[in-house]
Amino acid sequence: MLLMPRFLLPDVFHLTDDFLQSHQIRGIIFDIDNTLVGFRTPEPTPEVRALLERLRSGGIQIAFVSNNNKIRVSRFAKGLDIPAYHRACKPLGVVLKRVQRRFDLPAGQIALVGDQIYTDVLGGNRAGMITILVDPIDCKETALFKFKRRMEMPVIQRKKREDAQK
Ligand SMILES: [Mg+2]
Repeated sequence: MLLMPRFLLPDVFHLTDDFLQSHQIRGIIFDIDNTLVGFRTPEPTPEVRALLERLRSGGIQIAFVSNNNKIRVSRFAKGLDIPAYHRACKPLGVVLKRVQRRFDLPAGQIALVGDQIYTDVLGGNRAGMITILVDPIDCKETALFKFKRRMEMPVIQRKKREDAQK
């Protein structure tokens, strides 16, 4: 099922070395907004910087793939030496495939980490990647956000039920 994330995690800090090793993840594509930082946070927090550093020192390749604009993405990625793609049009797979070629890894060794099912998870699954859905950082109380969450809840609930039966 293309909307179903392979894993649910509370946040990106649960991407431990053990987790990555046990699922043979060698590359990670991160969404930015509400995945790594809240949508109002322009730069990586110290915790996020430490996470990225830990992942890289463990030999994990990293990229940022965002549907947001160039200003947002380039400011976030500034000075990190991590490839960053803006206006990626997830769930379309064009940019994801480009990153895969850059990583030079099979799709099955790349995790796509994001907070939205209809862009991040759908795009990652279509590309054959390991999809990881995290809880959105800013649970903004906008009508659009509530609507999207309502669309996502049946999928999340089903995934939780399936995990509970394992
Ligand atoms: Mg997001």
